[in-house]
Order: sequence, then structure tokens, then C-alpha cells
Amino acid sequence: MRIVLVGAPGSGKGTQAQLLVKAFGVPQISTGDLLREAVAKGTDLGFRAKTAMDSGKLVDDATVLGMIRERIGRPDAAKGFILDGFPRNIAQAEALEKMLEDLATPLDSVVLLNLDLGILFKRLTGRRICQDCGQVFNVYSAAPGAAAHSKECGDTHRLIQRPDDKEEVIGKRLEVYEAQTKPLIKYYEAAGLLRIVDADADVDTVFKRVERAVFKR
Ligand code: AMP
Repeated sequence: MRIVLVGAPGSGKGTQAQLLVKAFGVPQISTGDLLREAVAKGTDLGFRAKTAMDSGKLVDDATVLGMIRERIGRPDAAKGFILDGFPRNIAQAEALEKMLEDLATPLDSVVLLNLDLGILFKRLTGRRICQDCGQVFNVYSAAPGAAAHSKECGDTHRLIQRPDDKEEVIGKRLEVYEAQTKPLIKYYEAAGLLRIVDADADVDTVFKRVERAVFKR
């Protein structure tokens, strides 16, 4: 199973990717997570990426493509993967296509998580992440409570806000999505791979829609 999840920041790509991982046993490959890891470790790559990330812009294609090439080449990705947050523009999509062509492992489908801008804004400003277990919450809809138990933290999560979820950066990220990422919709539609999912519902309902979309021929 080789799937790309496309959608604006806050559309739920990360959450749905995690559910797909659980259901199908293939790894989630999130360029955002890989970049945040590099920043946290203080690597050269992380240092280069940080300025762009903090201001809501895209990290340069060469850096991201190098990272993806390495990650897709690891043994656990041989049976498939869920790409989350990559590709983010047409150049990345073309490079991915070439990479997968060389491996003779084309994409199965591209799922667009479709959501209204107003809802996206609220989801992003309300998003909080447990800094220990990585579980995602929202102060408007899913504050930590009975359902938020995790193996690592139990019920005691330490919530932080991603620096780029601050209101002043969100506008830029949505702008970048409109200008650079949205053209992917036409690109994948033309390739016959696009499946559109209405992402304005609770997590489980959206997941059912995603599953249906993935298996639609
Ligand atoms: P995300 O967690 O997917 O929202 O990504 C957070 C930030 O990481 C983005 O705002 C970009 O600065 C950077 N980033 C993530 N994925 C990519 C990508 N495929 N290309 C360029 N920059 C990316």
C-alpha cells in the first residue's frame, strides 16, 4: 500500500496517517516530523530547515527530497508507506514519481482531506501536542480526558503548542498551501489517483471515509 495524504495544515493528515499505520502495518512518513526531529537534534539539516519552518514557508526541495529518498529506501518502507505532508509542490511530486518509477513501485492512491479554511484555522490555533507521547489534542474539541490515555503518559499529558501553530504563522502556512500545494490536486486528478474525502467530521468517521477512498477503484 503506497498512499499520499494531501490536505491543508490542520486537515488531519497526521491523525489519519497514524490510523492507517495501525490498520495496515506500513510506516507513516511525515516530512514535518522528520524535519522537527532534525531541528530537535540540532543537525545541520535541522539548522537549515528551522528558519523556513518557523516562518511557515516550505523547506527547500533538495533538503526534503534527500530526506525522503533515504527514508523510502529503508527496509520497512519496502512493503509500502503513508506519505504525510509530502509532496508539497509539483516539483516534489514529479521527483517522487521518478523515484518510485525507478523502484517499480508506483503510488496506489492520493487522498485529499478536504476542509473549509475557517475550520482549519480553528483546528490549528487549538492544536496541542503531548511533548512526551506525541498524542494530538485540540482545546476546542478534544482536550485531554478519559479518551486521551496513552501507554507512555497515562492520563497526565504535558501539552505544548507547535511554534508554527501560533496565529501569526498559520496565515502564512495556509497561503503557502493555496499557492504551492493545491496545484497537486489537479496533478493527481490528471494521473487518475485522486480520491477526495470530506474531512469535516470526527476522527473515526473521517477514517472510515479514508478507508473507503483507498479501496475505491
Ligand atoms: P507539517 O508538520 O507537515 O505541517 O510541516 C511543518 C513544516 O515543515 C512546514 O510548514 C514546512 O516548513 C516544513 N515541511 C514539511 N514537509 C515539507 C515538504 N514536503 N516540503 C517542504 N517543507 C516541508
